[in-house]
Amino acid sequence: MSDRLLFLGPPGAGKGTQAQLLAAERNLLHLSTGELLRAEVQAGTELGAEAQAVMTRGELVSDALVLAIVRARLLNHDGGWLLDGFPRNLAQAKALSQLLEELQQPIEHVVLLHLDDGILLQRLLSRGRDDDNEEVIRNRLEVYREQTAPLIALYRQLGLIREVEAEGAVEVVAGRVSQLVGQPL
Ligand code: ADP
Repeated sequence: MSDRLLFLGPPGAGKGTQAQLLAAERNLLHLSTGELLRAEVQAGTELGAEAQAVMTRGELVSDALVLAIVRARLLNHDGGWLLDGFPRNLAQAKALSQLLEELQQPIEHVVLLHLDDGILLQRLLSRGRDDDNEEVIRNRLEVYREQTAPLIALYRQLGLIREVEAEGAVEVVAGRVSQLVGQPL
């Protein structure tokens, strides 16, 4: 059984949905940096205003800002967690590994969701969030390829990657994820 998980995959692969389901099933803290940032925007905080402009362009919010968000939540939490949408680049991954070393809470699995680019685009276009128009989506996919995808090699080297095919109904994919992280490494 695994209590400290990281979800990785392109925008539109269903990370948020699957992370939420698994977190509920395993009673883990679901930490989605995207959701936390959207909550700041909604609440009209200074931090939210800073993040909003960047998010609507499909670019990444500053590393310092997201790291502060994650750090505060993990420091105040006892028990398992699931990170969704963080880390998103190498600098964030390094900062995370330092934080986890400090907390003595190593990552147990990195769940990598796979989905075909055509399906990703379709899903994102039908979702209709503020940052889900075609141009911004293309930008987010590019940012993923350039900045986030290199993390796959990093976590693969550490032997943490567990791959899941993300095509199919939500419950079907959820079953795959659940089975995968229920197994010992
Ligand atoms: P998706 O998985 O569809 O890209 P998210 O909810 O994870 O959606 O993220 C939405 C936006 O929030 C991103 O495009 C980015 O601007 C910002 N964001 C989320 N997480 C991070 C992060 N770790 N670092 C920088 N920006 C982030």
